[in-house]
Amino acid sequence: MGEHIGMLLENLHVETKENTVKLIADVHSSYFGEKTVWAEIDEKYAHALTVENYNGFLVGLLYPAMYVGEDIHIKGSVSARLLYNINHYLMAFIRTYSARCKTIQVTADKTITDLPEKAHHIGTGYSAGVDSLCTIYDHLEKETYPQYKLDTLLFLNTGSHGEFSKSTTEPKFHTRFEYLKQTAPLPFIALNTNIHQFHEFFPDSHQKTVTFTNIAGILTIEKYFAKYYIASSMSYREAIQFGKKRLDISTEAFDPILLPLLSTETLEFIADGQQYTRSQKVQRIADYSLARQALNVCVNGAERTAQNCSHCEKCLRTLMTLDSLDKLKEFSTVFDLQTYSKYAFKYRCKQRLLYYSNPFAHDNISCASYHNRQVPSLIMSLIVCSPNIVKSMIKQILRPLLKNDKHNQ
Ligand SMILES: [Zn+2]
Repeated sequence: MGEHIGMLLENLHVETKENTVKLIADVHSSYFGEKTVWAEIDEKYAHALTVENYNGFLVGLLYPAMYVGEDIHIKGSVSARLLYNINHYLMAFIRTYSARCKTIQVTADKTITDLPEKAHHIGTGYSAGVDSLCTIYDHLEKETYPQYKLDTLLFLNTGSHGEFSKSTTEPKFHTRFEYLKQTAPLPFIALNTNIHQFHEFFPDSHQKTVTFTNIAGILTIEKYFAKYYIASSMSYREAIQFGKKRLDISTEAFDPILLPLLSTETLEFIADGQQYTRSQKVQRIADYSLARQALNVCVNGAERTAQNCSHCEKCLRTLMTLDSLDKLKEFSTVFDLQTYSKYAFKYRCKQRLLYYSNPFAHDNISCASYHNRQVPSLIMSLIVCSPNIVKSMIKQILRPLLKNDKHNQ
């Protein structure tokens, strides 16, 4: 690109492959070199790909460009609202969030405020996790306003499937999509992208820029949606209480600030789920038949089955809440309750110890007390969870007493 120092996006176009269509743009960058950025979808949804503007790819490249300090110029159109918000607000937010990001110039040949052939679908992501199911329950099963009722679900690859940057990402994405399709209660669209490849050069980048990569992906099919719910895992209280600790770690806590700034004239992003704590969400979906059949929270990730390991942190967290609600049996299809019973007591003790420092533990213990479940005492929790040395010391102290006790019986 000769003397151009910065990032230039141009040549936005659509390419048709066998059964899929791809929206592609060329990226010329001093730091990244000559690249393409793309989003790929089933040919059935070719009309959704938004070739009229660069909104998605601009959002996808904004953070990386600020990180390396490159101005962005778009040789084409972007939303007037989005460009205004980026220059007036979003960059200031990003600089607050990540101190090492620099203010840059973002310009475009043209700004637009509308889209031709605009469809008005209402969407959200489907992952079969608690957050996703709660949003679907609220806005599909319980929604009374037609203009807020879900009609489409999306499965997006912006780097969350499998290890970041590894070639395992794509096969996992496809396997998982085929699996989830069996239970998706609405039309379900897979959207694959390479946007995350511009984010993977900084450490822990998936969570760090998750809002930007996800919104970037969704904006590549901006024409398809009028509203889109982003299901967040944090409640308002947690986001406020722990917000400072999330700086430079995860944008998720800041969705209520970011999503209005990333919305365009024709697509509104809504931060959903922050009105509940985790246990309140589990309670909301406890009687939802889809959740009983499909709930998948496990970090030990079985892609082809609904089976949760029932002993990892996320499985136990969910099981403990279901236990407090007396809903374990109802979830026996997706959890192994025998496995849970082996871990349940120790996990409770651990949560008791973390009550004041961990928001999920606080929430889960409060939920247990509220539902009159016995919560282990602090001393008991210490004994159960303390390292083996301390444990054997305590045992040594207690042994004579226990013996005497037995003799006395
Ligand atoms: Zn698990």
